[in-house]
Amino acid sequence: MQRQQTIIEESLKAIMEDESFLPDLKAQTREQAYHSLVALLSTPNHVHKSFLRITTENGRIVRIPAFRVQHSDTVGPYKGGIRFHESVDEDEVSNLAKLMTLKNALHELPFGGGKGGVVINPKEYSVKELNLICKKYVQYFNDILGPDKDIPAPDVGTGEREMDWLMGEFKNIHPGEPYRNSFTGKSVLNGGSLGRREATGKGVYYTFRYMMNNFLNEHRKWLGDTENIFAHTALDHADRKLKIAVQGFGSLGSVAALEAYQCHYLQNRVVAVSDANVMLYHQEGLDIPGLVQYAKEHNGELPSTVEELADHELVADIMKRDDLLTMDVDVLILAALEDQIHQDNMKDIKAKLIVEGANGPITEEADKYLADKGVLIIPDILANAGGVIVSYYEWVQGREAQFLTEDEVFNRLFSKLKGTLDTILPQFFGDPYPLRQNCYIHSVTKLSTIMYRQGKLY
Ligand code: GLU
Repeated sequence: MQRQQTIIEESLKAIMEDESFLPDLKAQTREQAYHSLVALLSTPNHVHKSFLRITTENGRIVRIPAFRVQHSDTVGPYKGGIRFHESVDEDEVSNLAKLMTLKNALHELPFGGGKGGVVINPKEYSVKELNLICKKYVQYFNDILGPDKDIPAPDVGTGEREMDWLMGEFKNIHPGEPYRNSFTGKSVLNGGSLGRREATGKGVYYTFRYMMNNFLNEHRKWLGDTENIFAHTALDHADRKLKIAVQGFGSLGSVAALEAYQCHYLQNRVVAVSDANVMLYHQEGLDIPGLVQYAKEHNGELPSTVEELADHELVADIMKRDDLLTMDVDVLILAALEDQIHQDNMKDIKAKLIVEGANGPITEEADKYLADKGVLIIPDILANAGGVIVSYYEWVQGREAQFLTEDEVFNRLFSKLKGTLDTILPQFFGDPYPLRQNCYIHSVTKLSTIMYRQGKLY
């Protein structure tokens, strides 16, 4: 299924109607240019697919489907994560690759967009087998990867360990050639950047806080309804605390939840968090540092029984995982997988603000429904770019062989995000479009202009 199609088409239509956009483009070719751009932006340049053959520890030969989709290299080398998950398929990876192109363009990064995927549940494989899968991935896709061609990074189900293995194999295959920047999101010892691990979660929370502090309070008129939570933020009413729920407690959700918990300025209460098994709820706010510590010691999982909670002096009600989405909260941070809010649950959503930490967590239909209802959605390409932005700093540090302190990384990350927000938000408050469309208009304007200048459009 083609995603983002309608919004790409609508955004292109909006920019084509604007005569200041590519004024040299002749009127009769504008129509053609529109169709060319729709084609160029909605399909990937290349879809690479393979079956990784590995022998498992018990001697069985298995063939695992694996992908690398290279969506666009208009702005620079393809860039985007590799996902290890059993729901991965060609469509999903292609859509995620397209989102990377739009995200990188939005944040002015010198990269195109790509994405990889391997169809496995990593929990079902031993460390040795996972290592083999990483080696095979590089062997099979060796020709198309490289520091100036296509630079993968972590995504769902992968992290530093996998990036180190992948880079190690790339180095073996390319002796004497530059290898350090073939992957980002590596461990610091292997040339990774300080702060990369926390970057996406910190960026998600920063974006939310920036919206709250700098814009929403100033633009009450736009929000209209005085019952709206933004008219009652803790900035005005110290007794009004924002109730936040975070879906997903992996490297993204746990960091975003911790940031929210620690941000006394906004007086948040993180009342609910969930992982793949369970939701934990406490109306006065959960002990997020305690839960982060627990997850660290328990293979990333949250406590799921009364005994486990009691053993660690944690107080919470254990509830059904998916009920988190429809809780009576002010803010929902989605930090799990795509398609979490859809036709069947969209009418039950009570949050007034939704932050898309994950890529594509709201279906197109639900997005429209919620936007019409006045729910403010901070879209994925705006909110979750922290990871790829720090990947870019890692790539630059690797080239210069000069490394930044953690503070320097976060300062650069926040000022980069601020730069994007300061560009997008004034337009958003002036235009009739929802925030997501504003972001898309910005990205497709940039991509189309570069394509035109590169002679791909004439
Ligand atoms: N997988 C992350 C994303 O979806 C990071 C990609 C990268 O660092 O290249 O943005």
